Amino acid sequence: MVAMKMQINGKATGACGSESFDVKNPATGKLLEQVPLGTEDDVALAVEAAASAFESWASTSPQQRGVIFYRAAGLVRERKEEIATLLTQEQGKPLAESRNELEGFAHVLEYYCGLTGSLRGDFIPVPGNGYAFTVSKPLGVCAAIIPWNMPALIMGWKIAPALISGNTFVLKPASSTPLTNLTLASILNEAGLPAGVLNVVTGPGETTGESLVRNPRVRKISFTGESRTGIRVAELAASGMKRVTLELGGSDPMIVCDDANLESAVAGAIRGRFYNCGQTCTAVKRLYVFESVANEFVRKLEAGVKNLKVGNGLDKSTDMGPLNNRSQMEYIKELIAEIKEKEEGKIIIGGKAPEFKGWDRGYFFEPTLVSGVPDDSRLLKEEVFGPLLPIVIVKNLDEAIEGANRSSYGLGASIWTKDLDRVRIGCEQVNAGIIWINQHLKIAPEVPFGGIKESGFGRENGPDVLSEYLESRTIMLKT
Ligand code: NAD
Repeated sequence: MVAMKMQINGKATGACGSESFDVKNPATGKLLEQVPLGTEDDVALAVEAAASAFESWASTSPQQRGVIFYRAAGLVRERKEEIATLLTQEQGKPLAESRNELEGFAHVLEYYCGLTGSLRGDFIPVPGNGYAFTVSKPLGVCAAIIPWNMPALIMGWKIAPALISGNTFVLKPASSTPLTNLTLASILNEAGLPAGVLNVVTGPGETTGESLVRNPRVRKISFTGESRTGIRVAELAASGMKRVTLELGGSDPMIVCDDANLESAVAGAIRGRFYNCGQTCTAVKRLYVFESVANEFVRKLEAGVKNLKVGNGLDKSTDMGPLNNRSQMEYIKELIAEIKEKEEGKIIIGGKAPEFKGWDRGYFFEPTLVSGVPDDSRLLKEEVFGPLLPIVIVKNLDEAIEGANRSSYGLGASIWTKDLDRVRIGCEQVNAGIIWINQHLKIAPEVPFGGIKESGFGRENGPDVLSEYLESRTIMLKT
């Protein structure tokens, strides 16, 4: 085992306090790496490196930046197997999902290369002898704090629009998944990113993360994580007058109408809930099914769930890996214990850790379906970040939408129907930032992504996100 270092000013760097923390494999409990425990001084060094690199990076042409991105995307693809293995080892997801995520990372870089031509200002005619125009300028040092569920993809969503616009960057990964982020940063450096343009500091959120948000030279924070943490980050950022994007928790409803194609809805629910062991912000977290098709739907869903193979993500036959960490596992166990104790719901399938050799050292949990939970159940109110799906039977679309909107979250939602009127009503009335029809979970860097209500504010992806990393200066010229 070689201890992995932070990336500061283009170099692998240990922590000022020379302390480190362990990164363990959630499938085996074994130590994978030791990573520097970044201090406030390390954050200051990383921000200083980013600030020093800013002027020169901002004056390179967007096309030159794009060439580096293309090269990095190619290197990620060349090393995909090696990095996917690392991602699976630290995060737990099956190898196929890790490969997908890295492909997504490479694709985000390429997508923003294609947008370099849109980094420009406006010409505005004004009365009198003169002209007005706007010039778009990068902000300076931007930063992101990211979670452990999709570390590579979310890193791409944050760094690509910021760097292509001419900003420099400091990234703080989640403490259970820093290895993929450090590897990807070193690949970007290898692809030609000048020293200091992208820095990665590792360490806990409450210390390293907060130091980054507090640092007065950081102009923008893009945060992805839990809603409670997001509120804390927004409070700290407000006192420093920093721009903020908050991509927070979700409790996406999936509405299955009586005219839906049940086979594809079942497949959508299985992928929507159990992909990444249920640890996706836009996972299907509540299922509302019309009563006239409920029995058939649940029977088919149960049969599909029974076929899912839980295991180490490195095994080819694994459909669902472990949860990422102990607190996730404890949380899911607590919810199940509460259902049993209060007799508030029926566990249709799952509800326990699987019985295979080694499970006691890994955070494995069986894919679980629960029916008959009351309206005020924690399964419907909280963000259940794990393989547990509550099924609610409803009479019609009105009742489904009422249930869907009862959540304090508003990230994604899906409606499964062939009826265009239902599609229109659902799109108008369901409160969510993303609404899918006859699918769930599909995301792409071309498409704006983000939530409403407690799921946060601001959008990632798509061309408009560039304006989040640029400030417009108006120039008025008299002739
Ligand atoms: P988390 O909020 O615990 O941690 C996220 C990051 O914030 C980590 O890097 C952590 O170290 C850091 N952090 C923690 N406390 C901090 C503080 N006081 N100041 C600054 N940084 C701090 O979230 P998590 O458990 O890592 O991730 C799961 C959550 O992320 C879920 O709620 C999920 O829905 C959400 N998520 C949202 C999206 C989205 O785009 N909306 C995408 C993925 C995940």
